Amino acid sequence: MHSTVIRGWAFLLLVLLGSLLSQEDPWLTYYEKSNFKRTPRYRETVEFCQRLAQASPWVKYTRFGVSPQGRDLPLVIVSKDGEFTPEQIRQSGKVVVLVQAGIHAGEIDGKDAGLMLVRDLAIHHRMPELLDRVILLFIPIFNVDGHERFGPYNRINQNGPEEMGWRVTAQNLNLNRDFLKADCPEMQAWLRMFNRYLPDLLMDIHVTDGADYQYVMTYGLEAGDNVAPPLREFNRKVLQPFLNLKMAEDGFPLSPYVALRDRNDLRRGLVNWVASPRFSNGYGAVQNRTFYLVENHMLKDYHTRVTATYHFLIHFLEAANRYAERIKQVVRESDRLTAEELPGHYLPLDFRTSFRDSIIIKFLGVDYEKIPSEISGSDWLVYHPDRLRLFRIPFFYRSVAIDSVQVPSVYLIPREWQVLLDRLALHRVKIHRLKRDTTLLVKSYRFKNVRWREHPYEGRHPVRFESEGIQEQRFYPAGTAVVFLN
Ligand SMILES: [Zn+2]
Repeated sequence: MHSTVIRGWAFLLLVLLGSLLSQEDPWLTYYEKSNFKRTPRYRETVEFCQRLAQASPWVKYTRFGVSPQGRDLPLVIVSKDGEFTPEQIRQSGKVVVLVQAGIHAGEIDGKDAGLMLVRDLAIHHRMPELLDRVILLFIPIFNVDGHERFGPYNRINQNGPEEMGWRVTAQNLNLNRDFLKADCPEMQAWLRMFNRYLPDLLMDIHVTDGADYQYVMTYGLEAGDNVAPPLREFNRKVLQPFLNLKMAEDGFPLSPYVALRDRNDLRRGLVNWVASPRFSNGYGAVQNRTFYLVENHMLKDYHTRVTATYHFLIHFLEAANRYAERIKQVVRESDRLTAEELPGHYLPLDFRTSFRDSIIIKFLGVDYEKIPSEISGSDWLVYHPDRLRLFRIPFFYRSVAIDSVQVPSVYLIPREWQVLLDRLALHRVKIHRLKRDTTLLVKSYRFKNVRWREHPYEGRHPVRFESEGIQEQRFYPAGTAVVFLN
């Protein structure tokens, strides 16, 4: 009888435990519920964001535009003190951090890491100190139309999720080549959003292709001559060491973006790369903002990549809190220097890696060998991810300007070039107008040896040319646009 009672109790306990376990946490994300294998579609993503906003006064869900296929571009704002409008946010004096995922919709790690983080902050009130001096803007999917071109084979070498979106937009344009020319409606909406909220610190999350190595996460951080000196100093001496240290402590050491000097031989070293402003990181540099590029390693499984991204997001927000004053000051100072010192000086426009300047770095790689291919007859590169190797290789860290322009005080733009003026307005460039007809002695360019590239690129036809500066008297009618370079 005694043992029957015990058995009875044990049974009751089991039933209780079972019912507890089957009561699923309502705040698990789609990704967590899928055992870290799948990522939610657009609709499920937006619904989760809306639920967060309904449940927490710290979260506001809004849209910053509409895609060509009619989907809202989602924006989640997280603020502990309920500052959600651009005016409230500016008045708060807090650091505005923008995190965006899915600019290339198949590279979607940032969406699942970000949804978990917003949930943990706003619903579970974990790590609330991350919002003490920071307001978080989170775009879970930027390329929403590309995201819904969903399938298992969109990034064939990427180790999860099971299905994913597509790289380019519904109009077959690559958003991460469009920051400056702003042809995509999504990018035009993004630029308006950027100028309304003026984030101080930004992050763009991707998954990379190419070589094999141990790092889960690699990064691009602009700190060359394309960056204003105060911002450059901050990136080099403060932000980069802080994030590298924190991520190494968490077991996810970081490496600079793996751009090989020779794609078939890691031992020849890594090269630095200056991002032009058509890329997110390069656009950040011309706007005097740090736009940190995350490139996760496609061969690592999805759970590992999302976990690393989650850790990184926490440390990114930690940095924004810890250096809040410094970030605000560095951004202000860079803006001031640009306005005061740019006219008359030379602005570098194009760079190449210097092969004179290198340092030796430690690189956590894997063994590789070149094997002759029976099919093609040439060499084939084979990596052995089970044979970990510490390489000491050169890093060509410096890029030098190979083209520049002397910045004038003003540019004059004929009023009929409305398409150009519209683009400048998107970048929040102030346009003045000539009030009267005027003839002026101006410097301009005459183009020669113009060569069009045979194939179009991103909807445009690239052109190469030489130019010669000339001075001439020109007539400018009233209404001509005037753009000051300060
Ligand atoms: Zn990408």
